[in-house]
Amino acid sequence: MNFELRYTKAQEDFRQEVRDWLDANAHMPPALGAIPLESMDTTREQWEWIREFYRKLGHQGWFYPTMPKEYGGGGLSLDHEIIIQEELARYKVPSLNSPGNVAIAALYIYGTEEQKQRFLKPILLGETVTWQLWTEPDSGVDLASITTRAVKDGDDYIINGTKNYISGIFEPDYLNILVVTDPHAPRHANLGQFYSPANLPGISWVYQDLIVKGGQHFIFFEDVRVPRECLVGGETEGWRVTQSSLELEHGAEGSLTGRENVVGDLVQAWREGKVHSLAHGAAAQERLVDAYIRSTINRLIARRTFWMFHTKQPQSYHGPQNLWFGRETRIRTADDLLDLLGPHALTTDPEWRLLDGRVELGQRGAAMATHGAGSYEIDKVIIARRVGLSRTRDVAAPTH
Ligand SMILES: Cc1cc2nc3c(=O)[nH]c(=O)nc-3n(C[C@H](O)[C@H](O)[C@H](O)COP(=O)(O)OP(=O)(O)OC[C@H]3O[C@@H](n4cnc5c(N)ncnc54)[C@H](O)[C@@H]3O)c2cc1C
Repeated sequence: MNFELRYTKAQEDFRQEVRDWLDANAHMPPALGAIPLESMDTTREQWEWIREFYRKLGHQGWFYPTMPKEYGGGGLSLDHEIIIQEELARYKVPSLNSPGNVAIAALYIYGTEEQKQRFLKPILLGETVTWQLWTEPDSGVDLASITTRAVKDGDDYIINGTKNYISGIFEPDYLNILVVTDPHAPRHANLGQFYSPANLPGISWVYQDLIVKGGQHFIFFEDVRVPRECLVGGETEGWRVTQSSLELEHGAEGSLTGRENVVGDLVQAWREGKVHSLAHGAAAQERLVDAYIRSTINRLIARRTFWMFHTKQPQSYHGPQNLWFGRETRIRTADDLLDLLGPHALTTDPEWRLLDGRVELGQRGAAMATHGAGSYEIDKVIIARRVGLSRTRDVAAPTH
């Protein structure tokens, strides 16, 4: 029996169309310099090129291919999406909107028609950049304990408070903010979510230097007047609205091609004799093969979740499992590579570093990734709640 998957003639024609378009548009001009490994090292000129690339991709209908056309998506099928993603993966264009793109779920499900046209459409067309403002200095994984306050004043709300660890580079166009709207209401029924322009008076930010220059910030709100039409969902519905975005943040979308394949690339380099290592022999090979197997499982779980998301299969623990396994893989791979490569895994020296510095970045990145998007331990709490191993029994929030 032959299980080989073949694309139809129409799909292959579409692939060629995408390839031709990307060949014409997805090569960053060499004069702008190499794309940096750490996003805060991006130059202003590179950032402007990245923004323009996504604007063109969005207007082509290929940034969010399966989202409805009336909201700026491509109105295309999953088959088209797969082809676009496969072709895009051949280019190294940095991300535009991560993690602010999780606002899409909240706006799509809970936004009014006016909000969808005004806020959602420009995201899907690649025109706007959103930062996601949830975490606070005293409120991390326990997100419901935030204190940033929105007080109603006529048709507006006045926001005061501080957010931190907020990801993004250069400046955002919009902020997706979780705030307390009713301090007297019970936990989870006291919050509101706003999708607000980022340039309102009273909003400021400073850079937060972490072990990877991924672009995290403190953001301050001092008597910021936000209009009522920026409230997404009801005034105290913010927790429910945010759950839909949290599903995406916790891995529900999966990924077809997006997982870093440092182990696969290292195996290739090893085969070509380009790897300096302190470890040799069968034990070293076995360790590398273990890492290779784990990285393959990691990609398969991400693909399985991608398929579930795009075919609208009911999800429960699948998103957090995808996120957790990705983070676990990064940590264990970092340990494996440190043992195998010794100091070569830790250096950025151009002569001695491996895979142009990606191995060294993996050492720092694995540690930092345990705390983006909630934390590594919280993935397990969510999984336990969804498989019935916890005092509370949770179900996944809607994402479409
Ligand atoms: C690279 C990066 C990017 C980020 N980007 C954003 C962003 O764009 N927007 C945003 O709003 N936030 C962002 N964050 C913040 C992120 O969501 C928080 O770091 C995360 O929620 C953890 O919060 P905390 O760091 O304050 O840890 P804390 O909540 O203080 O937790 C400390 C430790 O205790 C553990 N812990 C706490 N409670 C439990 C429990 N019940 N069971 C088991 N263990 C527990 C945690 O796992 C953690 O290890 C980002 C963080 C990082 C590192």
